[in-house]
Amino acid sequence: MIASKTLKLSLKSLKDFAKKRLPDEVLRDLDERDECPLDVVHDMCSPEKLGIQLLFIPEEFGGLGGGAFDVYCVCEEMARVDLGVATAVLATFLGSDPITVGATPQQKKTWLTRIANEGLLFAYGATEPEAGSDLGALRTTADPVREGDRVVGYKINGNKQWISNGGVADAYTVLANTPGGPSWFIVEKGAKGFTHDEPEDKHGIRLSNTAALAFNDVYVDADRLVGGVEGQGLNQAQAVFGYTRLMVVAFGLGAGWAALDRAIPYSTKRIQAGAPLSQKQGYTHKLIVPHVAHLEAARAYIEETAERIDAGEGSLNTEGAIAKYMATEAGNAAAEASIQALGGYGYTHEYMVEKISRDVRITTIYEGTSEIMEMTISRDRWQSHLKTRGQHYHERARELEALHARQRGVGADIAALALHALAEIMEKARVARLTRYQHILLRLGELIAYAECAGSLSRRAALVAEGKLNEKANRRFDATALAALSRIFSREAALKVTEDGLRWVVGAGGISDAEMTGFEASLGLPAIHRAQSGLIADMDYIADVLYGRAAKGRELAA
Ligand SMILES: Cc1cc2nc3c(=O)[nH]c(=O)nc-3n(C[C@H](O)[C@H](O)[C@H](O)COP(=O)(O)OP(=O)(O)OC[C@H]3O[C@@H](n4cnc5c(N)ncnc54)[C@H](O)[C@@H]3O)c2cc1C
Repeated sequence: MIASKTLKLSLKSLKDFAKKRLPDEVLRDLDERDECPLDVVHDMCSPEKLGIQLLFIPEEFGGLGGGAFDVYCVCEEMARVDLGVATAVLATFLGSDPITVGATPQQKKTWLTRIANEGLLFAYGATEPEAGSDLGALRTTADPVREGDRVVGYKINGNKQWISNGGVADAYTVLANTPGGPSWFIVEKGAKGFTHDEPEDKHGIRLSNTAALAFNDVYVDADRLVGGVEGQGLNQAQAVFGYTRLMVVAFGLGAGWAALDRAIPYSTKRIQAGAPLSQKQGYTHKLIVPHVAHLEAARAYIEETAERIDAGEGSLNTEGAIAKYMATEAGNAAAEASIQALGGYGYTHEYMVEKISRDVRITTIYEGTSEIMEMTISRDRWQSHLKTRGQHYHERARELEALHARQRGVGADIAALALHALAEIMEKARVARLTRYQHILLRLGELIAYAECAGSLSRRAALVAEGKLNEKANRRFDATALAALSRIFSREAALKVTEDGLRWVVGAGGISDAEMTGFEASLGLPAIHRAQSGLIADMDYIADVLYGRAAKGRELAA
């Protein structure tokens, strides 16, 4: 982990660099021409220039040894600039990941030092034409080349699809099947038999080079097998998901806020029906405030998860999935709403929100689609539900009730209602064996993500109120505003869990007419309905905060 001061300096350098090298007109032009600004990417990764990649490399290999929290902060800032360029940097990080987690000491020294010192660009080659979400369907092969009994190298054959930096990387980590199972190999550009296609003509992130790769009897020495042992590939990929997904989470957050930060000032200047749009409640409370609440709920979850990863709790794959799911869906919704907020202007290239909206679209697809995230979340938390005999979320709810007793007004009581209801829905799904329906399993994943994020945001609001927030954390909102945001989001989460939960449980035939009244009561619906009280006042307050017109000294408790 790096010092807070160093992180601040890095973020400032990044902002200054972007201002100079990637102003809006340059971004629009590159987007129009569908071109990756390779000189900019190289300068970002050059130790003599910006050297952003140093943050991701351990100190022993010449980097700064940034932790998950640092990486999240830098990725959010990169995404605010341009998601295509951010993806080019992400690709180097992703590409070097199998090395960071699984390589031999010598391999780590060679490759991580080269990334730090030479600014080597990497690409991460996992996806194939037939193997996307299901990497197990991988067809690329790496056949051992022997001298006597000894394996001296491998011959790689196959194709990779949608590879970021595919046409511009200096080195590639490539997942291929060996006799011992899927394994990562390092292949350098220019290797005989290795080619890439022209860049894809994409919907968004057009500043990122995405290309298909082809391997035709590409020979690599045995020391290019990451870790030196066959069959470790899928484990190595899994081992970093929590961490790498946080980068994409930060992309969703950064792009979502970048769009809102264009819509908010626009609406103060745009006069319709005699007043600025920023004064129209039907505008702010639909197009701005709910998106702020969603983004900040996702931020609370990312920050908690990043802190836990940095504290050594492992790669936290499920938490990474929850954060990715919520932040990228929220980022997409915020960018889409920002187009609407700018009306006809939003629909043109000049105002940039349509570009942000096209760019952020990829975040719900790469590094695991939203549907795969729903599945990952649901499967894991289903096990927690079973292991605790249905108590997992009741226990989480009780923790929030204790927080509410200590710190009222931060939405913890409402988040607790969401979690109790979730526990009841999951129990009903267990009794009626509803997870045999894949749709129900995935919808549970969504409800889990909402309820957990509600808890997280109320904990974050309490930390701010108690002056205990991580000093690297985002401080856009003070304690009062964060508490209001938390209440707004918790109310939505509690209603969503109960209404959607009922919809799917009843819809799948999981409940008889006779059981209905008792089940509705178990969900705590009346309390959840009563908790909606104060919603409009909280939304008014957040609009006032966003537009700098909030009165000082508002009480925390609603
Ligand atoms: C611009 C871009 C950059 C990329 N960069 C990289 C990179 O650098 N390296 C790399 O390895 N890959 C990269 N990818 C690939 C990316 O990770 C995959 O596109 C993604 O994992 C989804 O795989 P797929 O496209 O084959 O879709 P599919 O897996 O075919 O999915 C299609 C749809 O079906 C859904 N679906 C899939 N399986 C299930 C299921 N079991 N149940 C229910 N629904 C399901 C998905 O959610 C999705 O909505 C990139 C992709 C793009 C577009």
